[in-house]
Amino acid sequence: MTSVTLETIANLAKKRGFVYPASEIYGGLRSAWDYGPLGVELLRNVREAWWRAMVRERDDIVGLDSSILQAAEVWVASGHVSSFTDPLVECTTCNNRYRLDKLEDPDQCPGCGSRGTFTAPKQFNLMFKTFMGPVEDSSHTVYLRPETAQGIFINFANVVRTARMRPPFGIAQIGKSFRNEITPGQFVFRTREFEQMEMEFFVPPDEAEEWYRYWLEERRSWYLALGMKEDHVRLRPHDADELAHYAAGCSDVEYLFPWGWDELEGIANRTDFDLKAHAERSGEDLRFYDQAADERYYPYVIEPAAGLTRSAFAFLLDAYDEEEVGGETRVVLRLHPRLAPIKVAVLPLSKKPDLVDVTQEVAGSLRGHWNIEVDVTQSIGRRYRRQDEIGTPYAVTVDFDTLEDRAVTVRDRDTMAQDRVPIEGLVEHLRGRFEGLL
Ligand code: ATP
Repeated sequence: MTSVTLETIANLAKKRGFVYPASEIYGGLRSAWDYGPLGVELLRNVREAWWRAMVRERDDIVGLDSSILQAAEVWVASGHVSSFTDPLVECTTCNNRYRLDKLEDPDQCPGCGSRGTFTAPKQFNLMFKTFMGPVEDSSHTVYLRPETAQGIFINFANVVRTARMRPPFGIAQIGKSFRNEITPGQFVFRTREFEQMEMEFFVPPDEAEEWYRYWLEERRSWYLALGMKEDHVRLRPHDADELAHYAAGCSDVEYLFPWGWDELEGIANRTDFDLKAHAERSGEDLRFYDQAADERYYPYVIEPAAGLTRSAFAFLLDAYDEEEVGGETRVVLRLHPRLAPIKVAVLPLSKKPDLVDVTQEVAGSLRGHWNIEVDVTQSIGRRYRRQDEIGTPYAVTVDFDTLEDRAVTVRDRDTMAQDRVPIEGLVEHLRGRFEGLL
């Protein structure tokens, strides 16, 4: 178990402006969350890090941004209308509802402790349904997408044609997905509206196993490269009875959450199930034409499907640290600099106009390079504490000596070491410290 509790992170997230409960002034909306000024930067940084690793730094993967609303046929073909369900049970004593497959003891209600009081399980479809246009009848039903992947499959032929890609190649997409989860919870771990980062990698069928192994290692390494502790991340192959009927193999990247190991990302060999299903239903030929061999075939698909909101949460948990400094507890988020919402804080020692003027000058010179924050409130000690708690790698302090020597103090979040640096060379100095990390 990790030492930080869910409550500690949720409180810090709320207090510092990472995450607020949605609709809070109306009493909140269960399982929905709003991301505040720091949270939105963190999400953006995780999203950018993924996009960079998956799209920008590779020549075999391209991006896509498909619509959240698609023809209802998409979800019929993919099997979501018929079987994207979870088994729902209700306790007849306390009326709480649960997902049967997630209960520790399938015979005992975790709400009231009663035994043998569950109703027979009912298959509950997780898709949010609505209507397109003014007429509310079944011919106008549309679904909010429960995953981004299907938007990729239905654009497979478009991308092959326009981006001139040939297997092995991938299509990556980041965006919102919606699932009417029976039991959302554990803060932002399981919500009804969330963001996913998915990539479908199309390969010749006989290379599928090799690429599956490749993506397992790539995806695990991605979390570690962004600072997650090695002993908090593991790969767990699914048991045969956990596998989706179309999958030839699936493993989860798991993180050691405060409640134990749980899924961050699923990596599956989806075979040619999706392309075939859409080809059959739409009547379009979705086979890839291999010119050299003069043959058409359905590529197999290896899919790493990650949660953006869930992994941002895991990065927060993993970064949380407390240490004793001078008899007091210092809370510090040791976020990787690439993920840190604010890269540099600029803090005048006091609110004296001379100092504030120089602070604005220093801030102006840094702003074009990094996301910075100027903070003139409260004592310098409290401001350092705030920057530590939000994971800012460096704080630049403008003090009275600055007015004489035109130098500032650079404080390192992790070591708390302070260095005096001339204002004229500050950008270069910080650039050196961030070298290879942003
Ligand atoms: P579970 O079985 O836990 O409901 P899943 O295995 O169906 O989830 P996938 O369909 O594989 O999840 O989704 C891929 C990723 O999307 C998950 O690993 C997770 O990071 C993220 N994800 C899925 N559902 C949610 C949710 N309700 N809230 C937040 N993130 C989610």
